[in-house]
Amino acid sequence: MKITIVGSGYVGLVSGACFAEFGIDTVCVDKDAVKIENLKKGIIPIFEPGLETLVENNTREGRLSFTTDLKEGLKDTDAVFIAVGTPTLKDLNNKKADGHADLQYVYAVAEEIATHLDHYAVVVTKSTVPVGTAAEIKKIIRDKNPSLEFDVCSNPEFLREGSAINDFMKPDRVVIGVETERAEQIMRRLYRPIFLHDTPVVITNPESSELTKYAANAFLATKITFINEIANLCEQCGADVATVAQGMGLDNRIGPKFLNTSPGYGGSCFPKDTLALTKTGDKFDVEMSIVKAVIESNTTRKKDMATRIVNAFGGSVKGKTMAVLGLTFKANTDDMRDSASLDIIPALMEAGATVKAYDPEGMHEAQKLMPDVDYQKSSEACLKDADAAIILTEWDVFKTYDLKHMASLLKTPMLFDLRNLHTPDAAEAAGLDYYSLGRGVYEKTKKTSAQKAA
Ligand code: NAD
Repeated sequence: MKITIVGSGYVGLVSGACFAEFGIDTVCVDKDAVKIENLKKGIIPIFEPGLETLVENNTREGRLSFTTDLKEGLKDTDAVFIAVGTPTLKDLNNKKADGHADLQYVYAVAEEIATHLDHYAVVVTKSTVPVGTAAEIKKIIRDKNPSLEFDVCSNPEFLREGSAINDFMKPDRVVIGVETERAEQIMRRLYRPIFLHDTPVVITNPESSELTKYAANAFLATKITFINEIANLCEQCGADVATVAQGMGLDNRIGPKFLNTSPGYGGSCFPKDTLALTKTGDKFDVEMSIVKAVIESNTTRKKDMATRIVNAFGGSVKGKTMAVLGLTFKANTDDMRDSASLDIIPALMEAGATVKAYDPEGMHEAQKLMPDVDYQKSSEACLKDADAAIILTEWDVFKTYDLKHMASLLKTPMLFDLRNLHTPDAAEAAGLDYYSLGRGVYEKTKKTSAQKAA
């Protein structure tokens, strides 16, 4: 079998490399010529554990190739996957988010497919797209190329950056939204290696499949936001959020995942997908009040994180130097899209602080988005002589960081651990004035270094 993947970003490249690993001839197409030239040389444009080896092996075996030429990529293909971005639509000045998913890239690819495809194939959306997009793609292709035989399919991707290859190869489920038996059979053949492991498959219509992806992401965002509000409550009432989450998560109906408190969700999916779901609700005149409340709560939380830090300095951080450890929206990725750091750091700078930062993989991207931050080559250089350390991302290297060493590097020993990577006891033993999330038991008894000195 042969497939074409259009869009060679986080999803397209991982999907392409994994399908090739399944033994399928795969051509990855991208309009970014530099990206394609680099991929041909084995240079991977993103940080994703295991991806480089997978791309290298499958390219060498002749199953994976790269091109900017969609016409060439569509030759003899059985299925063409659209895996381009669907960011939040911006207004005409490209400033204010309107909330809808911007489908211009998806529809442009549909137009191109209509122009170049000359035989039957299934046109599959891997991109996250609102209900009705498969129908619109069908219309675009039919209008432009009325004699072409084709089917459309919605096949949303559920992989997580940082564990994308494992998630693709061993997913919890595969969702396939099709209208014909012919398209279903092709999709089943493509995913055969996964189905041989008894992976559940949900075969449905394109609309249900499209909505499944948004409903799943909105539900996960709700779970994160819920535990963050519980963390706020824990701080006020003397409870501990980790214990509450453990007690909740042991209920099989709830489950333990996505119950870690954090500075708020970010990333390339949850912020834009929750917003887009509210717009789908508007379109069909159905109130998405829970999702709207989640978006608002999460936005407030990110702002609140900066306020907490300023308040810990007695209301002003003017002239203070903050050492930020971690910039990406989560560990094991270089993805900066909608990371909490993009809210917290500018707020601290606006309040008069100087910000130094270190991230194992995200600094290249971060530099483009926050050019005024003083980027450092190591955690040590970042912490040296700063007035406080702020952990924003849960990278393993920050989990194991020697807190005594941290305290010795800082000018004033303050640690804002916004991922709860350390314990109050360990931080206190290291001489750090420690701030974390949702640990009301500790907050009640803790003395700040200022209080201790008095
Ligand atoms: P991305 O921005 O990393 O990659 C998109 C790629 O598409 C870019 O390389 C771009 O150059 C290319 N492209 C755009 N227009 C093109 C065209 N006309 N022809 C060829 N290439 C074109 O995006 P991503 O993170 O991979 O996300 C893609 C989709 O997958 C989105 O809808 C996203 O919501 C969804 N998704 C993402 C994730 C994730 O973790 N990143 C997970 C699940 C689903």
